[in-house]
Amino acid sequence: MELDQFMAGLVRRNPGEKEFHQAVREVADKVLPFIAAHPDYQKARIMERMTEPDRIVIFRVSWEDDDGNVRVNRGYRVQFSNAIGPYKGGLRFDKSVHLSVLKFLGFEQVFKNSLTTLPMGGAKGGSDFNPKGKSDSEVMRFCQSFMTELYRHIGEDVDVPAGDIGVGAREISYLFGQYKRLSNEFTGTLTGKGLAFGGSQVRTEATGYGCVYFAREMLAHVNDELEGKTCVLSGSGNVATYAAQRLMQLGAKVVALSDRTGFIHEPDGLTLERLDYIIELKEHQRGSLDQYAKEFGVTFCPGKKPWIVPCDIAFPCATQNELDKEDARTLIDHGCRLVSEGANMPTTFAGSTLFEEAQILFAPGKAANAGGVAISGLEMSQNSMRLSWTREEVDRQLQEIMTRIHEQCVEYGIENGHVNYIKGANVAGFVKVAEAMLAYGIM
Ligand code: NDP
Repeated sequence: MELDQFMAGLVRRNPGEKEFHQAVREVADKVLPFIAAHPDYQKARIMERMTEPDRIVIFRVSWEDDDGNVRVNRGYRVQFSNAIGPYKGGLRFDKSVHLSVLKFLGFEQVFKNSLTTLPMGGAKGGSDFNPKGKSDSEVMRFCQSFMTELYRHIGEDVDVPAGDIGVGAREISYLFGQYKRLSNEFTGTLTGKGLAFGGSQVRTEATGYGCVYFAREMLAHVNDELEGKTCVLSGSGNVATYAAQRLMQLGAKVVALSDRTGFIHEPDGLTLERLDYIIELKEHQRGSLDQYAKEFGVTFCPGKKPWIVPCDIAFPCATQNELDKEDARTLIDHGCRLVSEGANMPTTFAGSTLFEEAQILFAPGKAANAGGVAISGLEMSQNSMRLSWTREEVDRQLQEIMTRIHEQCVEYGIENGHVNYIKGANVAGFVKVAEAMLAYGIM
């Protein structure tokens, strides 16, 4: 089936959901030609079924702020597919959250989780609640109200949520506490938990570290290495800061990080000590990078994206559609050779097409940032076994998983000696889910 024909049907069924259309288009662009050569998938209309979520739950979240005002937000859980395991995917709390964003994220999650080689289906959820500027008590009351509805739709063998933008250790703790109270059980139904109550070593760092390990695999495949490379990262949250940390530990130079207010430029390279300051600033004080820049006398470019800083490697680690065609052109013109997406769909379709045409080593998020959910999968395993592995053991498994994801991308993405990682990740992620769906029959 033609891509345009397929997309016309999808747009008709899901009007106005731009982010969801974009995510499906990227996958369908690579998977439809593959399906054309496999009549079984075509006859069973696997792609049509895969783009329709199993179910979506939408609910009201009422809570009281510190001044006694009643506040109302909307909560969501998009359970996209449990073909290969329980639903699994993060919760996002941000004012930009709406159904289209969560459908795109849930859809991507199906492919990503399949690539990890672990038995996990795909889901995503969240709310238009913005934790920024809220007191701890307000965040607690919101999380408790949110979970009071969500708890009936999740469970360790049903659906296992985790964090995402705006949902860090504090939010997961409040959510898990309320889940435990309502269900009267202590099971691994949320991941990203604190180490004292069922969390896994390396989960906090896993997405950022995994993204770096994936870049290392891509470089090794072309007989190159990370050491000495100049790197630019967007974001300064969970994914960006731990990617920066691992890059520095592996001998690369990090010259830029960003946030919603702008980016910092450190031509001589950030240090691990200064990065610790940024982690503390973001995680506990919820401050902005201009504060850091003032404190250390560093160049701060307000309101700008970091892609204008010349680099060998770019790691977009903030949010969707933060790197457009013009940014991609600038990066290529400045000699950037590799892009590893820490965020979900940070590059626009036109931007990634440009990288593809220029044969830049380009890793889509569903492959490069799968380390986070992979360690969430290992947190589930440890919870079920009632034991916990050491930091070294979990980090070793993370590296192995990123290597296996890379191998799958190479297997399905090789084209005239060059690896097309977009094709490799999408087709490899598709095959496992499609095989399960074929085996179940029509449902
Ligand atoms: P955080 O909330 O910890 O950090 C997000 C960072 O991105 C912050 O620095 C934030 O700025 C910045 N940011 C957010 N929105 C914008 C915007 N519109 N413009 C500019 N900057 C922005 O989130 P995470 O690090 O957890 O997530 C980042 C990305 O990685 C998301 O796409 C997420 O879906 C993806 N991801 C996360 C995983 C995880 O394990 N956490 C797993 C896989 C993917 P500020 O500091 O000013 O708020």
